Parts: sequence; structure tokens; C-alpha cells
Amino acid sequence: GFRCGIVGLPNVGKSTLFNALTRTAAAQAANYPFCTIEPNTGEVAVPDKRLDQIAGIAKSKEIVPTRISFVDIAGLVRGASKGEGLGNQFLANIREVDAVVHVLRCFEDDDITHVEGRIDPVADAETVETELMLSDLESLERRLLQTRKRAASKDKESMAVLPVMEQATTLLQDGKPVRVMLKDIAPEDLVILKGLNLLTSKPVLYVCNVAEGDAATGNEHTKAVEAMAAEQGARTVVISAAIEAEVAQLPDADAREFLSDLGLEEPGLDRLIREGYGLLNLITYFTAGPKETRAWTVRKGAKAPEAAGVIHTDFERGFIRAQTIAFKDFVELGGEVAARDAGKARDEGKEYVVQDGDVMLFKFNV
Ligand code: GDP
Repeated sequence: GFRCGIVGLPNVGKSTLFNALTRTAAAQAANYPFCTIEPNTGEVAVPDKRLDQIAGIAKSKEIVPTRISFVDIAGLVRGASKGEGLGNQFLANIREVDAVVHVLRCFEDDDITHVEGRIDPVADAETVETELMLSDLESLERRLLQTRKRAASKDKESMAVLPVMEQATTLLQDGKPVRVMLKDIAPEDLVILKGLNLLTSKPVLYVCNVAEGDAATGNEHTKAVEAMAAEQGARTVVISAAIEAEVAQLPDADAREFLSDLGLEEPGLDRLIREGYGLLNLITYFTAGPKETRAWTVRKGAKAPEAAGVIHTDFERGFIRAQTIAFKDFVELGGEVAARDAGKARDEGKEYVVQDGDVMLFKFNV
């Protein structure tokens, strides 16, 4: 599955947030109770209002949301790239996730020690980013010599990889994260960059952890983080981990009332999960029938057979075609039969690129 790693300095609220995520109603939705895959990894259901709409029309008995995983990655301190704290372990953990959720302390509380002795989330973000950049630079410099040699002796793979490595190295030497390259990268270079598995090439989402009273409005610290994120083309979620931890334990109705008293429309965790999903560059397609309406995850750009393979490898191997109805048509026309009568149920083949919200039915050989 797809995994977001929760990182940040000590005492910023990572564990509080992680625990809230894994306790929330969304995590325990439908048939998928939160499950611990391994210590510090939890799966959560991705909230999606379209599921209820489709299930209502298809008269489905059950609703099954799709899921993503969050990993609580503790242990980052200044000097991690030099092996301080749990430095190396921490960096190895980040290497294994698909995207980074970076928690920043935006709450004042004299009882909770800040490792740097002051509240300054932008400086904290830079501290963490610097460790990741140093680690990337070191790993690239280690590999560059070898790759240059091989490229000089006309090794095809090295010749393709070298310019990407060099561009990444230049960015890091200028003090910039490798993700800056993602803005206008050629698809073949993106594959190469992914293969390098650099820490700062992973997409990042900044989570501003604020005091209860600031959850609806944000504060001066969150504004500073938002400005920094905007410069990087990254997104920000303002959340109060303390509120989320409380809400996650309440029954639905009580949770809604509690949130509305605080001026909030939905749990911050729902926003966080959706943003995390977007960060991973994923889209959702649906299957719908009397038994269940279910959401499935594929990466953006996936073709129909790959989407079928998410359900079962046999579906991919024996793929013939996919009856495909756009979500909007499914809802506006009132279901599969009506969509078919209106000519809105398309028969798509192997080359079809799946669109977010497609309601699909696969035909396959066994
Ligand atoms: P981690 O080290 O980043 O995992 O941080 P923790 O989640 O363990 O939190 C460190 C301390 O800060 C704990 O005592 C939390 O109860 C407290 N804390 C976390 N979030 C908030 C918050 O939003 N407001 C306040 N006042 N305290 C918080």
C-alpha cells in the first residue's frame, strides 16, 4: 500500500497525531478496523463522500473505503545525518515511505519543552530539511564517482542517470530540496529520480499543530509556515493534535457537536488524510453493486488493466475491457442501468487511462 511518514522534531505532537489517526472513526470504518501492520504504522480509511452517494443509488449493503498508511517516524534531532539520536534509523524509515507529513509545533506551552528552546516552526522545518538534504548530498556524492566512470565508458543506464544525479546534486549544494525538480521533470527522468530514492525528492505536506483556540483560525506561526510552503509549492494543514485526540474517542454525533462548538466543520484528520492521499498522487475509482460499493486506489496515470490488478492479479492478466461510467453520470442519471441506456457506459480497453471517480466493471478471462 501507499505510505505517508510523519516526521518532525521531538515534542511537536507527532505521536499525539498518530494515535488520534489510528483511533479515529474513519480508521475504524466499515470492514476495516484500524490495524497495526507493524509498530508505528497504521492504516486509515480515506473519507470520501462519493461512496455514500454511489452506495445509495446502487442499494449496496456495505460501503468499503480505500485506505492509506501512516508511519510515525520518531527520532529526528539536529545532527541526524551525522548519526545523532536515532539518526540513521530515522533516515532509513523515511526512505521507505512515499510521502512526508512534516509536523511543526505552532502552539505555545511552557510546560512542554521545545528542543531548541523557542517556538519557530519555519526554523524547525529548516532544521529537519537540512538534515535530509545533508543525507541526500552525502548519498549522491558517494554514487556520483562510480556513475561518472560508467557513463564515460558508455554504460547506457549510467548515461541516463548521470544528468539527473547532477541536477539533484547542484540543487542540494545550493541548499534546495530535490523536490524542486519535480515541477517540470520529464516522465523518464521522474522514473530515474524515484530510483535514486532521495529523501528530499518525496512530496511533503506541512502540518501546523496549534492550540485548541487557534484550530479554526490559525495564528502568526501558521501564517509563516503557509508562506514558506507556498514558496515550495507545498500544502499546509492546520490542525490541533490535542483536539483530534479527543474527537477521535467520541461517537460521531458528539464529535460533530464538539467540533462545531470550536468553529470546525469536520475533523482535521479527515482533511489530513485527504491531503495525504493527494500528496501521493493517487486517484480513486469505484466498484458498485448490491453487495458493496467500494473505493480502490490507483496512481494517477494508471491504465485500466493496472486498475483491475488492484482488485486481483487475475483481473489484470485476463483483462478484456472495462465498462466505465464517470461518477457524475452515475449520480446524475441514477445508476448503472440508466447510464447504459443513456449511452454513458463506455467500453474501455487496455490503453484507457483511469479517471478519478470512474465507476468500473471489469470483463476478464480466467
Ligand atoms: P512527539 O515527540 O512529536 O511525538 O510529540 P508528542 O505527541 O509526544 O507530544 C509531546 C507533548 O506535547 C505531549 O505532552 C503532548 O500532550 C503535547 N502536545 C501535543 N500536541 C499538543 C497541542 O496541540 N497543544 C498542547 N498544549 N500540547 C500538545
